[in-house]
Amino acid sequence: VTDAAILDDLRHRCGADSVVTDADTLRFMSQDTAAEGALPLLVFAPETVEALADGVALLTGAGIAVHPRGGGMSYTDAFLPQSARSAVIDTGRLNRITEIDADGLWVTVETGVTWAELDAALAPHGVRTPFWGPFSGYTATVGGSLSQGTATFGSGRIGSSGNAVLGLEVVLADGRRVVTGSGGREGATPFDRNYGPDLTGMFLQDAGAFGVKARATLPLEPRPSHVEGCSFLFNDFGGLTQAMRTVARDGLAAESFAMDPVVTRQFADQTPKGLAADLRALVGIVGTARGPLAKLRTAVRVVLGGRGFLAREGYHCHFTVEADSARELAGRLARVRRHCAHGQELPPTVPQATRAAPFSPLPVLSPKGERVLPLHGIVPYAAAPALDAALKAIVAARRPALDAAGITVATAFFGLGRNAFLYEPVIYWPDARTLYHERRTPEGFPRHPENPAARALVAAMKDDMIDAMSAHGASHLQIGRLYPWTRGRSDAFMAFARDLKRAVDPHNLMNPGALGLAP
Ligand SMILES: Cc1cc2nc3c(=O)[nH]c(=O)nc-3n(C[C@H](O)[C@H](O)[C@H](O)COP(=O)(O)OP(=O)(O)OC[C@H]3O[C@@H](n4cnc5c(N)ncnc54)[C@H](O)[C@@H]3O)c2cc1C
Repeated sequence: VTDAAILDDLRHRCGADSVVTDADTLRFMSQDTAAEGALPLLVFAPETVEALADGVALLTGAGIAVHPRGGGMSYTDAFLPQSARSAVIDTGRLNRITEIDADGLWVTVETGVTWAELDAALAPHGVRTPFWGPFSGYTATVGGSLSQGTATFGSGRIGSSGNAVLGLEVVLADGRRVVTGSGGREGATPFDRNYGPDLTGMFLQDAGAFGVKARATLPLEPRPSHVEGCSFLFNDFGGLTQAMRTVARDGLAAESFAMDPVVTRQFADQTPKGLAADLRALVGIVGTARGPLAKLRTAVRVVLGGRGFLAREGYHCHFTVEADSARELAGRLARVRRHCAHGQELPPTVPQATRAAPFSPLPVLSPKGERVLPLHGIVPYAAAPALDAALKAIVAARRPALDAAGITVATAFFGLGRNAFLYEPVIYWPDARTLYHERRTPEGFPRHPENPAARALVAAMKDDMIDAMSAHGASHLQIGRLYPWTRGRSDAFMAFARDLKRAVDPHNLMNPGALGLAP
């Protein structure tokens, strides 16, 4: 059977418009924000879960590897095709919100739904998911996040995305459909993840190596009535982590994030300037406050705060605090301020602006047109100072070469739940664009020529940073093909992991190479 005949069969069974083979689409779909894979045979974009399962069975039955892709916003070589006999599965048309049960407190979606779409659909019901999306949620999908593991909105309380899932429907490599959680039983609803062993967990953060998530059921909670940001400046990393640790320990912030001076300067540069832009931002920010008095107080603090504070050196730390009454909010804010008393309070413009417009189409290059490579490691707070020193030493040792090549390293920090600290160095360098960058970069961003020398420096520094994170006991979200999930594991663990992979994907055709799992 020729590949052309296989494609015809796929068109016939799953719909002609679900098979895409034009060169530009193949190229675009084989790139993520950081790298490029092999050019696949086709992009398969099924419109229904049934078509997804049929198509996967047909493709893998013909020996064609399948690589699930959501919004394509990742940068860890996570869905990139490894050979020409492969298909990228585009989940973009699997974007239905199947059921919202606002009383039972769960929602079932097809996995191509974006976080922005989901949040907009839930808002009229007065509910939201406890983890409600990454900054990239305008484009990033629920399926991508659950397969990667993502952090941001809600992560101060709940940690990463996998902590807020009730069940999944997964298409295995041979096309079988498996429903995990209570919803997998005839006549039962998907309200409970914990009936028996946690088979849902096995498919979370799997980088798509164990199957294609077709549907996901997520828990719901009432949207908080009172939300307010507060920000602080700390002179050193120790002061920053002390504040983030104690606020996290006491469960006070829905989001907790911080920026080193380089990120804060970038934030200041990126924010649109001028009276009209300031007024637009102000209207959005004031809209997040509840009640006329709170709106006025917020407006006064933001207007008086101006922009000048963004230029202040040090670690800028931002918390978003939620509550169900003004009194509860005031109590929480007072406790956050006590934990941050060793810093200086700043205007709350950054967390308020973030909440005012949580999801917008984000550029994948810096405003200077540079390539961007974020890395991250997650450690307990006690391990953060040593990791900080190790990563700073890696940058310092290369400083002259980095400066000469125009490479910048900026670092952001996030609190995940009560006990985990996410350390995120982001590397910027001038380089040429790929087709992916062309399509996802707004007009007017500067262009740069090919820069293989800078690229090689970045690649070497990236490896050193990942090794340092590993040496400091870090774990990672977004493993893809980048982070060393299998490093340092026992033989028993590796044999078990390979057995699991074989059980769901005996011929290694489901996103082969993801998780670093060789057959
Ligand atoms: C500007 C920008 C901002 C970002 N902000 C954040 C942030 O705030 N927090 C954060 O954690 N990350 C962030 N990211 C990283 C990225 O957006 C997230 O990891 C996001 O979850 C990726 O989702 P996606 O739908 O684009 O997944 P993709 O990039 O398409 O895929 C990611 C992985 O999931 C797999 N996959 C996708 N869909 C499925 C499916 N249905 N079934 C099985 N496997 C699947 C793929 O094979 C791949 O391994 C950001 C990235 C950018 C570029």
